[in-house]
Amino acid sequence: MYQLQDSVLSIKGIGKNLQATLESFNIQQILDFLLFLPLRYEDRSIISTISTIKNFIPTPIEDRSEKNKQVKANFVTTKAKVTKWNEYRKGRLLISRATIADETDQINCLWFNNKFLKNKMLIGQEYFFSGQIKDGTLMQATVEKIEGENIHTGRLVPVYSQLADLKQGNIRRLLAEVLGKLHQSGEAEQIFHDLHFPASPENIINARERLALEEMIFLMQKSALHKKQHQAKKTIFSFKKTPQYQKEVLPFTLTEAQEKAVAEIMHDLSQKSPMNRLLVGDVGSGKTIVATLPAIEMLREGQNVCLIVPTKILAKQHFSNLSSIFKNFEFNLVDAENKFQDKDKSKNGVFYIGTHALLKKLKLIKPSLVIYDEQQRFGVKHRQLEEHLNQLDKQAHLLNMTATPIPRSLMLSIFSHLELSYLDQMPNARKMAHTWLIPEEKREKALDWLVKELKQDEQAESRKKQAIIICPFINPSSYQATENVAAVKDLAISLKKDLQKIYQALNLESKAQPKMGLLHSQIEKKQQAKIIDEVYQQKIQLLISTPMVEVGVDLPNADIIIIESAERFGLSSLHQLRGRVGRQGQESYCLLFSSKGLNNSQTNLERLQKFCQEKNGLKLAELDLSNRGAGDLLGYQQSGFANLQFASWTNLQIIEQAKKIVNEDESYTSFLQAYLEKNSALQSLTHATN
Ligand code: ADP
Ligand code: MG
Repeated sequence: MYQLQDSVLSIKGIGKNLQATLESFNIQQILDFLLFLPLRYEDRSIISTISTIKNFIPTPIEDRSEKNKQVKANFVTTKAKVTKWNEYRKGRLLISRATIADETDQINCLWFNNKFLKNKMLIGQEYFFSGQIKDGTLMQATVEKIEGENIHTGRLVPVYSQLADLKQGNIRRLLAEVLGKLHQSGEAEQIFHDLHFPASPENIINARERLALEEMIFLMQKSALHKKQHQAKKTIFSFKKTPQYQKEVLPFTLTEAQEKAVAEIMHDLSQKSPMNRLLVGDVGSGKTIVATLPAIEMLREGQNVCLIVPTKILAKQHFSNLSSIFKNFEFNLVDAENKFQDKDKSKNGVFYIGTHALLKKLKLIKPSLVIYDEQQRFGVKHRQLEEHLNQLDKQAHLLNMTATPIPRSLMLSIFSHLELSYLDQMPNARKMAHTWLIPEEKREKALDWLVKELKQDEQAESRKKQAIIICPFINPSSYQATENVAAVKDLAISLKKDLQKIYQALNLESKAQPKMGLLHSQIEKKQQAKIIDEVYQQKIQLLISTPMVEVGVDLPNADIIIIESAERFGLSSLHQLRGRVGRQGQESYCLLFSSKGLNNSQTNLERLQKFCQEKNGLKLAELDLSNRGAGDLLGYQQSGFANLQFASWTNLQIIEQAKKIVNEDESYTSFLQAYLEKNSALQSLTHATN
C-alpha cells in the first residue's frame, strides 16, 4: 500500500534514476506525483465499430468541458482482432502494418518506429486501438489489451506535459500503479482517480474544483494562524494612549478617507500587539501623508521609523517633500551617496527613508514602525521583508502600502491576518485625466493636437507641458499574433518622422521642437536614471517608454499620456498609467490607441470604452477581476499574489465555500497540506505580510 507522504522511490517501477529525474520536477512524494495533473484529456471513450470509423469524418466535437478545455476529441477508438501483422525497415524507418477486424468490417493500421508493437501484437487477439484516421488508415494507434480498467484507450485518457523523457504511457502506468494501491480514505482517493482517470468530463471538473477548495481553505487557515502568531509578538513601542496628530503643518486638508485611515493606524499603534495593516489607495490618493502623520508622533516619542520605497528617485522625492513639511524632525535619506553609518546607530527619533537596501539596516536602526511602499506590486518582495523583520528582537509595527486595487471583499474573506484601510477618495485638487479612445484614422489629428499642446504652454506660462507615450514592447514582436503591437524603438522612429511633418507644416524650427527621450529596461540603469532626471527637470518634453513608468516614477509635471496597443493592458494597469499624469492637479489627458488589425476585437474596444468613463480604480479592478482574472488585476507582470496552484481569485463561490468550512471546522486538515505547505508561490503569499 502507498501512503501520500511516501517517497516516489517506493513506487514499483521507479528506481533511483527516475527518482532523481522526478526530483528535478519537484516531485518527491507520492502526493506530488499525484498532483502532477494532466494538461488535457483525449476522448477515447467512445468505442466505435470499424464500419463507423471507416466513414469517420473528422469534425471537431463540441468541447464537453468548456470550462477547462480539457477534452480534445479528435481520436477514434475501436475494439478489434488482429488478422494480419508484419513489420519491416525502410532505411532507418521501422514500419509496422496490421489489419484489424470486427464483425462489421476491417481496416489497415500503420505505425512508424514503434519497436514495442512486436511484443504486443498477437494474431487473433482482441485489443483496443485508438488513433487518427488518415486516408482510410488508422494511424499510429495506441494498442491496449482488454482487461480490467483500461488506462490508455477506451476512455478519457490523460495527457501530461513532458516529464523528462518519460513516455505518456509510462506516466499513466505509474500513476495507475499508485492509484491502485493507495492507502487513503475513500474521498481523496476518488479525487485523485478522477483527476487522472476520469469516467466523465464532469468528474474532472468536480475534482479540480475540489483541489481549488482545498487550496483556499489552506490559505485561510494559514492567514488565521499568522494573525495569531503575530498578535503574540511583543512590540518595540506602542503609544500609551492614542496621541493627537499634527495636521496643522500640512499645506492641504486631509480627505475624510485619509483622516479615517490615520485614525485606524493610530489606534493600531496604541495596541500591545504589533500592527499589520495594509493601506490600499490609488496612485495619487495620498498614502504617503497618511503613513507619515502617525510616524511623526513616533518620532516625537523618540522612536525611529523606516519608510521603504521601490526606487531611489521616490526615496529622494519623499525625503525632500517630507523634510520640508516637517521641519522640526530629523530625516535621513539612506542611499548610495548617503549611507547609513554605524555612528547613526544610537540615534533616536529619526525618520529613515530608502529603498530595499534599508532592510539590511533594520537590525541597527531598530525602528518601531516600518512603512513599506509597494506601489502596485503587492506581495512580490514581502518574503525578504518578513525575514528581516523577524530578526528583530521585538516586533516593529508594519504598515504596507499598495496601489493594487484589491477588492475589499476578496481581502476580507481570505486574508484575515491583515487589517485594511482604504483610501477610496482622491484629494480635491486631483482630477483624473480626461480619457479618450482614439480610432486609428484620427491618429494624425491626435498628433497634431499633441504638438500644439506641447508648444502652447511654453508661451502662455513659464512651464512646458510634458507627455508620455507608452508602448507595451521594446522591440517589434516577431510573433504573428503580436506583430502589430506597438514597440518603443519602432515608434520612436516613426513618431519622429510624423512629428517632423507636423513641425514643417507649422514652420517650427528644430530648436523649438520638443525634446524626446526613450526609456525601457534594456537601457543601462545609469542612462535610465539620467533620462528620468531630465524628464523630471523638464528638459525632456516627450518621453516614449515601456510600462516601466507605471512603477515608481513620479513626474508631477506630466500632463498627457498616450497609450499604444492599449488592449494589451488590464484596466488596472491602464489606470495606474493614467495616474502618472496630472499629479499637481493640472488638467490632464489620457489617449488610448489600440493595435492595428488583429487584436482589435469588439470586446476589447468595449472594455476600453468603459475605461474611458470609469475613473474609480477599485471599480476598474473589479471589472478586471470579472473580465480576465486576477493576473491582470495585479499588473501584467508576475506577482506572488496571482500564483495560485489550483484555485482562482475569481471563483467567489469556492471562496465562500472555503470560508464556511474554515469557520465550522477548526481542525480541518487538507489532504493536500504537505504539498501546499512546501509550495513556494503560496509561501510567498501567506508569509506575505507578516
Ligand atoms: P500615493 O497614494 O500615490 O502615494 P502621494 O502620497 O504621493 O500619493 O500623494 C500624491 C500627491 O497628493 C502629493 O503631492 C501629496 O502631497 C498630495 N496630497 C496628499 N493628500 C492631499 C490632500 N488631502 N489634499 C491635497 N493634496 C494632497
Ligand atoms: Mg506613493
